[in-house]
Amino acid sequence: MRTLIANGTIVTADGSYQADVLVDGETIAHIGANLAATGVTADETIDATGKYVMPGAIDVHTHMELPFGGTFAKDTFETGTRAAAFGGTTSIVDFAVQSKGQALRTGLDAWHAKAEGNAVTDYGFHMIMSDVNDETLAEMDQLVAEGVPDFKLFTAYPGVFFSPDDHILRAMQQTTKNGGLILMHAENGPAIDVVAAQLVAEGKTDPYYHGIARYPIFEGEATNRVIRLAEAAGAPVYIVHLSVVDALNAVRDARDRGAMAFAETCPQYLFLSLDDLGNGFNGAKFVCSPPLRAKNPNWDELWTGLRKNDLQVVSTDHCPFDFHGQKELGRGDFRKIPNGLPGVEDRVDLVFNGGVVGGRISRERWVEIVSTTPAKMFGMYPRKGAIAVGSDADIVVYDPNRKRTISAATHHMNADYSCYEGWEIQGGSDVVMSRGSVVVKDGEFTGRKGHGKFIKRGTADYARLA
Ligand SMILES: [Zn+2]
Repeated sequence: MRTLIANGTIVTADGSYQADVLVDGETIAHIGANLAATGVTADETIDATGKYVMPGAIDVHTHMELPFGGTFAKDTFETGTRAAAFGGTTSIVDFAVQSKGQALRTGLDAWHAKAEGNAVTDYGFHMIMSDVNDETLAEMDQLVAEGVPDFKLFTAYPGVFFSPDDHILRAMQQTTKNGGLILMHAENGPAIDVVAAQLVAEGKTDPYYHGIARYPIFEGEATNRVIRLAEAAGAPVYIVHLSVVDALNAVRDARDRGAMAFAETCPQYLFLSLDDLGNGFNGAKFVCSPPLRAKNPNWDELWTGLRKNDLQVVSTDHCPFDFHGQKELGRGDFRKIPNGLPGVEDRVDLVFNGGVVGGRISRERWVEIVSTTPAKMFGMYPRKGAIAVGSDADIVVYDPNRKRTISAATHHMNADYSCYEGWEIQGGSDVVMSRGSVVVKDGEFTGRKGHGKFIKRGTADYARLA
């Protein structure tokens, strides 16, 4: 099967130019001007006049079917990757979970079983480590060799995912030997628990207080601490879902002194704020961790971070729970609200609308932060994240002028609400291709459950050398 994508503007992290793309089978076979006129033939031609032709976006932070707070995130690998595809995201990297007392292998096998035969687009895994000990440290090397080269640890959630500093340091030291990468959820969980308990004791139980309890300084402190530990270990570190200027400043300082410190933020920290948490129990829809922050100065500072490359990636932390029946578990105590937001479908468009249409970043930088850097950071480049001969034909034909209204009534994520309900945005994916197969076209799903394959990823060389 050969598909010609003709007359579009190829937009990559490196630049933009007019050219046609020939897809042969699962990969990009040829790129050039007016290919049809030069005798190139195809079984199908997609006219991309007036559209961008960009590498499929990559969301490196999703939680399909995550068990949390006595319930499960509602998207499966099938529904979640399908929703992602509608939004121009053709690869995800999801978090497999090691439960306390079990082997990493057990958790990884469980996540492979959830995804295999179900995902409609490609997927990889990071490994959440709940225990750091001699056995799990040895297992890390094996996982790196199997294409699961990153490990997430938490300074938050005492009693669940929390790791003390000595465990974090040991895991970091292990990655200096095996080439892997440590991802950190950096908030000071024990300190947050003190404040949260005090607020609840005062009767302050609404979702809004979830945002109050998790002080910005707790994220700033933990971010600085884990970066310092990584420096001590001689390892790179990647801060997930950075939300606030206190933490951004810790990353900036580290990068200024040459540390191998990297960070992502998420759309919810660029477009939503503490105000959204403050509407009675309706605020439960917006409960995630770190929490939504004050608009000022955080929104502007995070955009500046993205422009100046102190932030390299925008991911979603997609972890959808219904408002009815799931978020409601936290009525009367914000600590019991499942943490997480639906987001995998809207990331690419929200960052385009707010960033490119909004005049904050170039379209090339947009492609870089939603696709190319995620591919480089996580060992998938240039197979993913590039429009180049030999790369996987994960391609989005993107209409920069399309207007649409975001709504739970029309989104494809398995959640009964949208954080962006009623938002009118500009930009959208017309055609989405996964390894040469069109999976979404003009708002219709044309893909197939089970088409998605596991992405065996390489070591974190980019984080060591960039
Ligand atoms: Zn997460």
